[in-house]
Parts: sequence; structure tokens; C-alpha cells
Amino acid sequence: MRQLQSYLQGQWNTGEGDGRQLFDATSGKPIATASTKGLDLGAALQWSRSVGGKTLRSMTFAERAAVLKGMSVAIHEARDDLIALARENSGNTRGDAKFDIDGAAGTLSYYAYIGKSLGDQTFLFDGPAENILRSARFVGQHISVSRRGVAIHINAFNFPAWGMFEKLAVSLLAGVPVLEKPGTATATVSEAIVKLWHDKGLIPDGAVSLLCGSVGDLLDHVQHQDCIAFTGSGTVGAKVRGHQRVVAMNVPVNIEADSLNASVLAPDVDAGSDTFVMFINEVSRDLTQKAGQKCTAVRRILVPAQLEEAVVEMLTERLDDAAVGDPADRGTRVGPLATASQQRDVLAGLAELNKTATRVYGSQEDVPDAGYFVRPQLFRTDQGVSAAYVHEHEVFGPCATILTYSGDADEAVDIVSKGGGGLVCSFYSNNRDWARTLLLGLAPWHGRLYWGSKKVHDQGSGPGTVLPGQTHGGPGKAGGGEELGGLRGLSFYMQRTAIQADRGMLDKVLGKNSQNG
Ligand code: NAP
Repeated sequence: MRQLQSYLQGQWNTGEGDGRQLFDATSGKPIATASTKGLDLGAALQWSRSVGGKTLRSMTFAERAAVLKGMSVAIHEARDDLIALARENSGNTRGDAKFDIDGAAGTLSYYAYIGKSLGDQTFLFDGPAENILRSARFVGQHISVSRRGVAIHINAFNFPAWGMFEKLAVSLLAGVPVLEKPGTATATVSEAIVKLWHDKGLIPDGAVSLLCGSVGDLLDHVQHQDCIAFTGSGTVGAKVRGHQRVVAMNVPVNIEADSLNASVLAPDVDAGSDTFVMFINEVSRDLTQKAGQKCTAVRRILVPAQLEEAVVEMLTERLDDAAVGDPADRGTRVGPLATASQQRDVLAGLAELNKTATRVYGSQEDVPDAGYFVRPQLFRTDQGVSAAYVHEHEVFGPCATILTYSGDADEAVDIVSKGGGGLVCSFYSNNRDWARTLLLGLAPWHGRLYWGSKKVHDQGSGPGTVLPGQTHGGPGKAGGGEELGGLRGLSFYMQRTAIQADRGMLDKVLGKNSQNG
């Protein structure tokens, strides 16, 4: 059987033994194995630090941007092959695979674009020089420079392309080499992309390493200048953050974890109106896209009691149209989940939801025998803030729960914030006072808010889409992390340093800071 390879110290390696098996999500048949046993991960990190760091720091932002552009184009050119791999390994429909693969290419391209605009610099000025004493000559200037370590990126199974390479784009632009560790279960797409770049000679010396398989003793070798960006479950995220060596070395850790994203319908929205249809379209897309395996997918749907019947009716119609089946069939909208363990976890979660709430749509009847299928399911409850399981457990599949509420904006804020902090919350209203309460009440609990209204009913990107120019991450349960957001994302990979010196001498050494006016 094919064994996935890791790209370490500029060589393709395989670990000892069989390691973990990867499966075809539709048939359940094994397709590959991945092992990292016996690989020298300490040496791999050291090689990245010394070779990759040196290479990237010798390049300007514009030169790093050109590398990202090449990587983006290569992914786009290989799109159909990558889609076929995603269909087999992750059970993605064509649309689901495009969401991941085009998302990766688009984010690389976006960072290539903003990197180009930074031109020949190798570091960033952070604000203007400021007078720090009475003298106009003695100033303080903040700058950001590339960290001297490796950026370790540990990723979840659900986005083997976008999840990995959105992090890589920011890190390489910041001048920091990466070691990418995809979720093992779906790593075929990640491996294929790095192979593609390698074969086309697109990887600057030492800038990219790839680890396919278990994380092994990787974190035992981190050093002070390394950083870790993790995406996955809150439980594993806590282990990474609390890892003894990570703590001892004060390695910065960014965590993107579970999120009970909510979508709130306001009482001013009439059933059937443009805003109502926008809400229904976006909620139903989140329920079915990638079979609900999206960190940004809506899990809790808040609906004023008087609108519940209309919402259930229209969502039901949409879900009836979402055919479940073989992702290779063009008519299929919902493919299988990615792995047997995901299917087990989701079915267990649905059983728990069924105890707390009432199922109003869907069942697990008539799913194909083979593969990891779960049918879309919708629940309802009027328990509001007291529906503990609904607010605490992210069931990572095609399902969500309707929570009825009075329509009062403060009540909506109380119910949503029971989720303990999320990546995104969407709300739909044309009433500015109501929207202001939601916006200011929910902002402390979220990394992103999405306001749907009649003004944008035909334009919104949907709350489930992460755009590279906007921050991604969220407080509390969502991990407390922040990624992307255009240039903001680079700060995780750079050290901000205040330089105190003579203004004239600083200008000569660092060059002109355009922010000084
Ligand atoms: P997971 O089980 O936590 O695994 C995430 C990654 O951690 C995988 O690469 C895994 O490797 C690795 N890992 C496992 N044990 C580790 C350890 N002791 N030390 C270091 N790394 C370790 O999560 P998942 O099942 O892949 O993904 C689903 C979860 O991710 C969901 O909860 C979802 O909400 C979350 N997610 C969040 C975001 C976001 O942006 N906030 C995005 C996507 C997904 P192996 O695969 O080799 O076990």
C-alpha cells in the first residue's frame, strides 16, 4: 500500500512500519499509510531554522511574495487532480473540494499581492517614530522583524489544503520557515501539494518541511524562537499549549479550536423577505457544505418564536434538495464524513442532542452501508440559555439546533454567549437599534461578526467563508487565537522591538519610514 512521505531536511522520507491507515471516505477501503516513527524531528527543526530561516531572511517581502504567487498558480494548475484526491480521501464533493483547494490558492495569492506592495523591505515599521523625552532627536521607533525559529503548523483533518497553506502563506511572507503537520487522516492532499511545489522547484531552500503522520516527539525539540499555530480540537490544543517543553521555552502558541457558531434572526425580518431568504440560504449552506465539517459552520440557530414555523419549513425544503451520496456524482450535495471516528463521534453527538432537543428534520435511515455517511439533521429547543449540551458540544457534522427566543436583542446576546466564545456569529436584521445591541454585545465573544440585511442580501460571502484580509479566530472556547487579517497576521511570526536612538542615525540605518510623514 502507498506510504505517505514526509519532506524533512530537503529530502522525502518515510517512517518505519505502517503507522496510521488512511481510508477512502466513500467506500471505507484503505488507501495509504503514514508513519513518522524513527524520523529525527529534532534535526529536521534545526535544519529548518538554520537553512530555511537564512534563505527567507535574505529575501525581501517582494521576493517572498513572488514565491507565494508561484505556489498559488501551481495549486490552481493541479486543481482537478487535487479535487480527485480530496474526493477519495476526505469524501468531498467537487464543490467542497474546491472550497478547500481554491481557498488555499486564493490565500497564497492574496498574501503574494500584499507582500508585493511591501517591496524591498525585510522588516516592518510599526507606527511612526515618537519623541520619548523632551528632545526631538531622541526617538522611539517600533519595528517588527522575522523570528529566528521555525513556525510549526499543526492542522485539523477538515481543511488539508486551505488550513495548512493559509498559515504557510503568512509565515513565509513574514520570513519564517514552516514545518507543516496536516491531520493524518486526510493528508494525501497536503502531501500532493508540497510534492508539486518541490517538483516545480518552487520551495526556497529549507523554507518548507512536511510531516505526514503522528506528531511524535516534535514538540520536545522546540526552542525559544519557534512558534506553534495549532488548529484542531480544544482538548488537543490544551495539550499543545501545556506541553512541558513549549511552556519551558515560552514558545508562542496560537490556537484555533472548537466553536459553537450561532446565526440569529431578528424579529423585524418578515418570513419570505430578502433578508429572510439570505438567512435561510446561508444557514442551509453551512449545514451541508463539507458535510458540516467546517469550523465556521452554524451550530445554533436563534429564531424568534413567531418565525420558527416559517424557518423550519424553508430549511426543510433546502435540506430535502441536498442529496446525500457518492461525492463523485454531480448531483450529490452532501458526501460522507472524512473518517470512521468522525462518524462515530457525530452519531454519538446526535444521540445526545436528541435527548436535550427535539429532532425536526432528518434521520440516519437509508445511509449507504459503506463509507462514513451522516444525513443532515435539524433539532429545536425552547430552553434558551439552559440548553447546556447545545451550547457546550460541537457536533462536527451536518447538523444544527434551532433555539427559539423572544426576539429581544439582549436575550439573544445572553444565549449566544453561552457558547463560551466563537469564531463567527451571523445576525440578520434591518433594525439598526437591534443590530447595534447584537454587534456590541457579541463582539467581545467573537473574532468575526457577520451582519446580513436587505442592503447586502445578494452580496454576502456567507459567515462560513474565511477571507484572508479579515481576522480568523475567536476568544474562549474557540481557542483564543487570531490568524490572517491581512498584514495583522504577520505579527505572530515577527518580534516587535522598540528601538530608542537618535532620529537621524536611525533613519540612515533603517531607511525612510513613510509613516513619519
Ligand atoms: P484534533 O484531533 O485535535 O487534531 C488536530 C491536529 O493535532 C492533528 O494534526 C493531530 O494529528 C494533532 N495532534 C493529535 N494529538 C496531538 C498531540 N498530543 N500533540 C500535538 N498534536 C497532536 O482535531 P481534528 O479532529 O483533526 O479536527 C477537528 C476539530 O478541529 C474540530 O473540533 C474543529 O472545530 C476544529 N477546527 C477548528 C478550526 C478553526 O479554525 N478554529 C478549523 C478547523 C477545525 P493526527 O491527525 O496525526 O492525530
